[in-house]
Amino acid sequence: MRISKLFGKTQREVPAEAEVVSHRLLIKACMIHQVAAGVYSYLPLAWRVLRKLENIIREEMDKAGGQELNMPVLQPLELWQETGRDQAFGKGLFTLSDRRDRKLALGPTHEEVITQLVIRNVQSYRDLPQLLYQIQTKFRDEPRPRGGLIRVREFTMKDLYSFDTDEDGLNQSYNKMLQAYQNIYVRCGLPTLLVEADSGAIGGKDSHEFMVIAESGEDEIIYCPDCKYAANVDKAQSVKGNIENGEPLPLEEVATPGMATIEEVSAFLKVPQSHTLKAVFYMADGKLIFVVIRGDLEVNEVKLKNILHCFELRLANEAEVIGAGIVAGAASPIGISDIKVIADDSITSGTNFVAGGNKPDTHLRNVNYPRDFKADLVADIARARAGEGCPRCGGKLLSTHGIEVGHVFKLGTFLSEKLGALFIDDKGISHPIVMGCYGIGLGRLLAAAIEQNHDDKGIIWPMPIAPYHIYLCPLYREDSKASEVAENLYAELETEGLEVLFDDREESPGVKFNDADLLGIPIRVTISPRTIEKNSVEIKWRSEKESQLVPIEGVVTRLKGLVIEGLSTLPSSA
Ligand SMILES: [Zn+2]
Repeated sequence: MRISKLFGKTQREVPAEAEVVSHRLLIKACMIHQVAAGVYSYLPLAWRVLRKLENIIREEMDKAGGQELNMPVLQPLELWQETGRDQAFGKGLFTLSDRRDRKLALGPTHEEVITQLVIRNVQSYRDLPQLLYQIQTKFRDEPRPRGGLIRVREFTMKDLYSFDTDEDGLNQSYNKMLQAYQNIYVRCGLPTLLVEADSGAIGGKDSHEFMVIAESGEDEIIYCPDCKYAANVDKAQSVKGNIENGEPLPLEEVATPGMATIEEVSAFLKVPQSHTLKAVFYMADGKLIFVVIRGDLEVNEVKLKNILHCFELRLANEAEVIGAGIVAGAASPIGISDIKVIADDSITSGTNFVAGGNKPDTHLRNVNYPRDFKADLVADIARARAGEGCPRCGGKLLSTHGIEVGHVFKLGTFLSEKLGALFIDDKGISHPIVMGCYGIGLGRLLAAAIEQNHDDKGIIWPMPIAPYHIYLCPLYREDSKASEVAENLYAELETEGLEVLFDDREESPGVKFNDADLLGIPIRVTISPRTIEKNSVEIKWRSEKESQLVPIEGVVTRLKGLVIEGLSTLPSSA
């Protein structure tokens, strides 16, 4: 490809809102263009990368036994109502009406549609297992699209669905996919960490995410360096520790004039925050919920939502709290009735806590559970933090950030039961099919690859996903010899099947080298009067500082060898 003909010019200016590295570089390299919030066009260079990602994914899915098919984006809303997932996705589901006023949804995922397909085509245990996948456009109405291709509303996703006769079968399918995913990331030059995750609106029990560790990542990961426990903070557990505070003493009222927050109360009464109980109010599907948690901890809203089995959860506002007859700032679970009380299990981790007094400017000392108040439910609803104990080995937990580049779920039978996806076993007995689902967002993967492979000058593409293999860069094109050598080399490299971006522009060396660095093509080949004088060309890897002069004679074979070597970064067999 001649750069003079390439659609899209590199940019100097980047919009201020582009804070994430991959977003900035994708705009500077003129690879994407925003059409609406979270909706992007891919220009030719980015589209080449996306197609290569697609091929790698397709190869690994096929190798694992997957069969590719294609399902529509447009889906009847009734199908979603049958499983109740229209409510689980809530506003995230794009819906529309057709001219006959039939309600439709733009698929955010395809479990419903594929299960329907399986019902038609699977009757017996002999028809199982199945691994079926597609690479298809998905729509999710994200509340906050951000980070360029990191969080978008329209995206290409590879989604595979597994169908098995039992849990053992599901585990085998799941492990096959874990291995296939690992292979994909290695081939894309992405070291990933497998972490436990929350299933969210997809549903099901176990789920894992593949994370690329990156400062810009919007997911917090809690992990243990000792035993390798790792989980998304939404899911992570921790040992909260006991707060020793003596034998339970009688309740005692104490005046706390003007003290409303835990920080203020704990400073005023000179007790650590861990010796207090905090009240937090939520609205769960429109109903007020009273949450009690140890004062030094924060509520994990994902855990809380899972426990409440609600669709919508948000913090209650002051009017809603006061409207329920609660004294804001001094709220106490003691004496509360008619409101559901959910307590974090940390309330059982000590004695003689300070809690609200349910009277203005009043708190209570020596609050003990369950002596002084009842909770409708006591469970782990706290946000795990670095420094706390590992739930597996007791070691000290650490925290980091990551970009989720893959999410896999053991769905079990909840969807097949709802939709009636059954099979007959060898004794003629009918059972629900055991399901799993496995997703990779391609645009996100592209962005993560840049997050992981760049420097201050631009992108450094790993060879297997680079838009082109070689950046051919003749300097001083008025020098007819250099120009002639470059034209010949371009033709020869193309004939050999190498992908060449040919910088045939009449630009200064500075401009050309800057663009070469920005676009991140793995190998740069420079031809100038100086190299011609030595019957040579200069070869430089984008990832390395030093270049080397090599003879023009045999350079095509040499470059071909380098490209093949770069492409054959094979997944480890582990
Ligand atoms: Zn551990």
